[in-house]
Amino acid sequence: MDFDLTKEQKYIQKAAREFAVGEFTDVALDLDINGTFPADIVKKAKALDLIGLFIPEEYGGPGLGFLEQTLVLEEFWKVDPGIGQQLSSLTFGAEEFLLYGTEEQKKKWLAPLFKGDAIMGFAITEPDAGSDTASASTTAVLDGDEWVINGSKIMIGNGTVGTFLLVFCLTDPEVTSKTGRHSIIIVETDREGYKAEAMHGKMGLRCSDTAAIYFNNVRVPADNLVGERGNGFIQLMNFFDRSRAYVSGHGLGLSQGAWIWPSNMPRGAISSANPLRLCSRPSLKLRRWRPRSKSPATRSTRRLG
Ligand SMILES: Cc1cc2nc3c(=O)[nH]c(=O)nc-3n(C[C@H](O)[C@H](O)[C@H](O)COP(=O)(O)OP(=O)(O)OC[C@H]3O[C@@H](n4cnc5c(N)ncnc54)[C@H](O)[C@@H]3O)c2cc1C
Repeated sequence: MDFDLTKEQKYIQKAAREFAVGEFTDVALDLDINGTFPADIVKKAKALDLIGLFIPEEYGGPGLGFLEQTLVLEEFWKVDPGIGQQLSSLTFGAEEFLLYGTEEQKKKWLAPLFKGDAIMGFAITEPDAGSDTASASTTAVLDGDEWVINGSKIMIGNGTVGTFLLVFCLTDPEVTSKTGRHSIIIVETDREGYKAEAMHGKMGLRCSDTAAIYFNNVRVPADNLVGERGNGFIQLMNFFDRSRAYVSGHGLGLSQGAWIWPSNMPRGAISSANPLRLCSRPSLKLRRWRPRSKSPATRSTRRLG
């Protein structure tokens, strides 16, 4: 089996590296300290087809695959995880449209992510339902030809800056199987009754938007259902199967960035620069790990994932 990247994949990887080094390096620290959304970088990344690489061209995307998405995110996270997270999250949940959306939904909701100002997110987590997504209790009740949504979600990427979100809702609480109670519904963030509060004070990734969101009798058309009513849990798991593959690129990029950063600094700078003093010992340890981090096995494992 050949695990080498193709010429095209190497080109994409190089383009992502150059973009990240050129665009992130000078602004990353300020964006992180001030928790500023990197609007200019988002615009440029969209224009250069460096987001949502797995989305087919017929729906406005670059028409590549999950490996290309992973390679790009690895390069982004190597330079700055916060900007990398924001760029990754711009199409978070788009897989649901590709797997379960109607042709009309794919065209309507995916294309503006690339050509317009649309930003999406996927609202799953609740204060009492994190890893255990089947416990999500935000309700959606069908009233005529509209869903009426009530509840709250927490730690939602693009809750504040997003133009629409996929929302994981409890639609069929009477069903006994816990895999048959939920549905995934599109909610435009300018609907009446939608409220988002930016969450501040994260340990990192501060320039990426994370919000607590609230639904107070939010009404959306019945057609905003993605996939089948009651099949939301299964659809969610299939989304995770795909998206968690490229999240491995986040981890790999972050770990590479962690050893590149101290190894690019002269030893004296590490011990004399005040903010770095506390981490000078781990930094020196990272230097010794360097040959292992380059192990082809580490990278192949990720590519198999
Ligand atoms: C920066 C950021 C962005 C995020 N963006 C989004 C987003 O866009 N949309 C969204 O919906 N959510 C988002 N999240 C939420 C994230 O997906 C949740 O943090 C995650 O689902 C875990 O939930 P939790 O934090 O409640 O942890 P918990 O579920 O409470 O888990 C805490 C710990 O217990 C462990 N654990 C849990 N259950 C078990 C078990 N049964 N057996 C053994 N161990 C277990 C977990 O592995 C973990 O270590 C975001 C979070 C962060 C930090």
